[in-house]
Amino acid sequence: MDLFEESVVPEHARAVKREAREFAGEHIAPAAEEYYRSGEYPWDVLEAGMDAGLVAQDIGEAYGGRGLDLYEVLAIAEEFYRADAGIALTLQLASFGAEMLGEYGTEEQKEEYLRPVAENEQITGLAVSEPETGSDLAGMSTTARKEGDEYVIDGEKYWIGNGVEADWVTLYAKTGEDPNNRYGNFSLFVVPTDSEGYEAEHIPEKMAMRASKQAHLHLDGLRVPEGNRIGAEGAGFWMLADFFNHGRVVVGGHGLGLAAAAIEEAWSFVHDREAFGRGVSEFQAVQHKLAGMRTEFESARALNWRAAEKVANDEDAGLWAAMAKTKSTETATQCAEDAMSLHGGRSVLTDRRIARVYRDVRIPVIYEGANDIQRNLIYGQQ
Ligand SMILES: Cc1cc2nc3c(=O)[nH]c(=O)nc-3n(C[C@H](O)[C@H](O)[C@H](O)COP(=O)(O)OP(=O)(O)OC[C@H]3O[C@@H](n4cnc5c(N)ncnc54)[C@H](O)[C@@H]3O)c2cc1C
Repeated sequence: MDLFEESVVPEHARAVKREAREFAGEHIAPAAEEYYRSGEYPWDVLEAGMDAGLVAQDIGEAYGGRGLDLYEVLAIAEEFYRADAGIALTLQLASFGAEMLGEYGTEEQKEEYLRPVAENEQITGLAVSEPETGSDLAGMSTTARKEGDEYVIDGEKYWIGNGVEADWVTLYAKTGEDPNNRYGNFSLFVVPTDSEGYEAEHIPEKMAMRASKQAHLHLDGLRVPEGNRIGAEGAGFWMLADFFNHGRVVVGGHGLGLAAAAIEEAWSFVHDREAFGRGVSEFQAVQHKLAGMRTEFESARALNWRAAEKVANDEDAGLWAAMAKTKSTETATQCAEDAMSLHGGRSVLTDRRIARVYRDVRIPVIYEGANDIQRNLIYGQQ
């Protein structure tokens, strides 16, 4: 059973998919349990991913990357998340947010900040969410006040992937107060993490994806030059919305990887286990459950790859990205639930792959916009 057969993947993305599969089998899957237990940052796997040319390579060739497109990044996500979601998130977040600099930044900014990320000398993070606000992107309260040719940034950010480890973050802050233009009040900035006024601490330990690290940021009178603003002042919300359309297709891939892991574990368990003098897989109810999981998985995968095409071609991107993210991540939660029940008592043994998958599926339904928000977008964009 090859759940990630290639026919749905465009031909040009198949080579990198194979590279990702080989890498995941060799470096991610064997390290998964150890990093889940220790909760440490998987620097060695990240560095191996860099050496393999699979980290931060969506940055264009002009700035030192491979210029991988959305299809290729999705193909990598499927394979990495199937192997382990926590390590996969760390590998995929190494350039998180930097893509917007690639899209909207000046030549000077790209040379200074993007090239070192593409060349794997630096890693980044994206700082949007706050302790009191996550879903409401136009409700964030961190401010960036213009003072001469600098911006002074004050506020807090929460849940920021790589907030401690990154060299710089793309930070989303309020630059306007126009109540009639709620979405036009925000801008994006490159913020080096060694700036005075930048403090980051890891958030309390999570129950899932422990090999990825998020931080609570305190920004206190932090100054950045005007030249660190990405794109036009007031355009931050729109740049972010477009970025999330791409990101949500990839988060769909996180769900598909996790769903595939759940199906694989369930399949092998019931084909190995006996009850009532028969193999458990011989019970029709068990077969129906496996049939349902596969059907949901294939539906989600077909939708997700169709959404990739829609987003790549900028056709109703917001609608398709939200549908793909919702369907694929919820297929993962359902497949994990079903796989747990097929494992009987062994489902709750902490160190089983299925238990790790069951914990991990709780996360992609939340990040890059909780699925209730995706449903608002789906309804609103039809
Ligand atoms: C592991 C992890 C990594 C993350 N990484 C990052 C990162 O790198 N950078 C970053 O900026 N953020 C990151 N986040 C934050 C993430 O994007 C937010 O958690 C998410 O957007 C939800 O925000 P919230 O947690 O504040 O929930 P809230 O906004 O408080 O919402 C709570 C719940 O209320 C409901 N709800 C809220 N508003 C609505 C509505 N309008 N309609 C219907 N229901 C609604 C939903 O059910 C929602 O789940 C990460 C989160 C996690 C868990």
